[in-house]
Amino acid sequence: MPTFVRTEKCDGCKGQDKTACMYICPHDLMKLDKDGSETGHAMKAFNQEPEQCWECYSCVKICPQSAIEVRHYADIVPLGGSVQPLRGSDSIMWTIKFRNGNMKRFKFPIRTTSEGSIDCYGNKPMPKMAELTVDGVYTKAMMGGFRAGNPAELIRKK
Ligand code: SF4
Ligand code: SF4
Repeated sequence: MPTFVRTEKCDGCKGQDKTACMYICPHDLMKLDKDGSETGHAMKAFNQEPEQCWECYSCVKICPQSAIEVRHYADIVPLGGSVQPLRGSDSIMWTIKFRNGNMKRFKFPIRTTSEGSIDCYGNKPMPKMAELTVDGVYTKAMMGGFRAGNPAELIRKK
């Protein structure tokens, strides 16, 4: 269920070189069609590889214009329906539209941790690239014993 952009809502993030959806997509799928040569819609974003979409909803949530939608799985939102989030300063509201016109809204609080304030290494030193290349060493140190799989330990060997 890839994302698609509602061109009538997208404002191209007001001409920024890197739009919000381009910035957030972990798979670099979102692209701004500056001159309209790719989609026929100048200064509108689009998902350039829909089949590669992770459906992570990051672009959907970050878009300041609520211009990105995902057609959700049919068992959650039957065909013709839509799922649309609206971010506030302290909550996010999901609007579910069903094809028969019914609408449901769900509001959830959002994390208010300030950007950059999380200690992602839990008081441990940041790993060095050289350590990451040694099988399991960094994982073992961080996770207290867990480590990456060792092919030699596979039950079914080639
Ligand atoms: Fe358009 Fe939203 Fe992407 Fe900005 S984040 S370019 S408004 S789709
Ligand atoms: Fe990228 Fe996730 Fe949006 Fe798909 S849903 S286009 S992977 S940010």
